[in-house]
Amino acid sequence: MKAVIIGSGIGGLLTSSFLAKNGYEVTVLEKAPYVGGRFTNLDYKGFGLSTGAFHMLPHGEDGPLAYLLKLLGANVTIVNSNPKGRIFYEGKTFHYRDGWKYLSWRERARAMKLLADIKRNKLPEGEEAETSGREWIKEKIGDNEFVDLFIKSFLGWADSVLDVPAGELAREIKTVLRWGGPGLVKGGCKAVTNELARLTREKGGKVLTRKKVVEIDPDEKKVITADGEEFSYNVLISNIGIKETVELVGRGHFDRDYLRRVDSLKPSEGIKYNVALRGESRIGNTVVFTLDTERINGYNEPSSINPELAPKGYTLIMLHHALQSRNVKAEQRKGIEDIYRIFPNLDVEGEILLIQTYLDGNPVNRVASGQVVEDFSIEGVYIVGDAYRPPGGIEVEGIALGVMRALEKLGLGTFEGWYP
Ligand SMILES: Cc1cc2nc3c(=O)[nH]c(=O)nc-3n(C[C@H](O)[C@H](O)[C@H](O)COP(=O)(O)OP(=O)(O)OC[C@H]3O[C@@H](n4cnc5c(N)ncnc54)[C@H](O)[C@@H]3O)c2cc1C
Repeated sequence: MKAVIIGSGIGGLLTSSFLAKNGYEVTVLEKAPYVGGRFTNLDYKGFGLSTGAFHMLPHGEDGPLAYLLKLLGANVTIVNSNPKGRIFYEGKTFHYRDGWKYLSWRERARAMKLLADIKRNKLPEGEEAETSGREWIKEKIGDNEFVDLFIKSFLGWADSVLDVPAGELAREIKTVLRWGGPGLVKGGCKAVTNELARLTREKGGKVLTRKKVVEIDPDEKKVITADGEEFSYNVLISNIGIKETVELVGRGHFDRDYLRRVDSLKPSEGIKYNVALRGESRIGNTVVFTLDTERINGYNEPSSINPELAPKGYTLIMLHHALQSRNVKAEQRKGIEDIYRIFPNLDVEGEILLIQTYLDGNPVNRVASGQVVEDFSIEGVYIVGDAYRPPGGIEVEGIALGVMRALEKLGLGTFEGWYP
């Protein structure tokens, strides 16, 4: 059986590794000169920045991605964060547990009950599931400013949006309760994607770069690249986005209802700031959720467990916020003001190395959390990657859940207990 995979992002490579392991004749076609998409390292002035991610897995060693990596026997080390999170509020940074003091006794009791309900799978349904997640939390716990700022900051950091439907928020909380908080990858993002490319090749698969697919012919079951080469397939995995795949197949192959649903999908967009600070590690392996800020939603320190990601004597900080308007300059100005709020001595201690803006064709997520178009309607074609994350799947953990679904449809495993 021939499998062609379009795109060598983490979604494409995860799938190609499983297909190659199961005896498929695999070819990965990647338009860029490198593999990994938005999940690989980017060398910049001696720092190990990244093409996208913060070198972090949302559920660390215990989430669905780590599970799939284990099944593949991948040589990747993930170090769980400790503590799972910290909070920057009222000018101070503290352990997330100390945040409970900002809730009244009544609010605490209601919050505990809500968490217990979510754990027991009592999740919002029907109309309630579609309402604003932040409004739903207010209704359940009370109109508490600290809680709302925390949820906003969590969503801005984890999903690069400032609100999601209640059904999605409840599932994301459920996954955090079940699989725990984040973890950093030893060696950064490229340690995962390079290893997956290696595993694909080890089982006889081909991973070809500078191969841009410009057409999918679902009748002849072949794809055509910009340089005119043709690759036939029995199974086609598309890692380039659902809208983009529809365009390559040709809109004429889909019914109006399906196209309407695909056209309504919205991406999540955001800005990442890479900051170099002189001296020792500042926060260690954790995430700081920033509540006292106008734009920045959170930050981490990838060099805390990966000293090689910063030159000697420096540490690397990555800060992020969801995009709130299309005025990118104004957004960046506000983001920078926040950075000075968090690191008041920045001019003495270091510098902002690089600001990376993710929107339009290069977003944070091609389909923002809380929206899913179920099956791709062309036989033999499957979508993987951040355009297809089942509910509750945060970032690459959601990509892993989507890959599980694709593998199940291909009869290559069952992952029943995994879907939130
Ligand atoms: C600022 C930022 C921070 C993030 N932080 C985290 C984080 O810490 N943890 C986390 O889990 N996630 C994080 N994410 C999200 C995560 O990086 C992405 O969701 C994930 O990398 C997307 O992987 P993918 O496989 O879906 O797509 P991609 O990585 O985009 O891969 C798609 C590949 O397809 C190729 N391609 C496109 N068109 C064609 C074509 N026509 N022919 C051939 N090849 C083609 C592209 O070049 C690309 O290599 C972050 C994202 C951003 C932007």
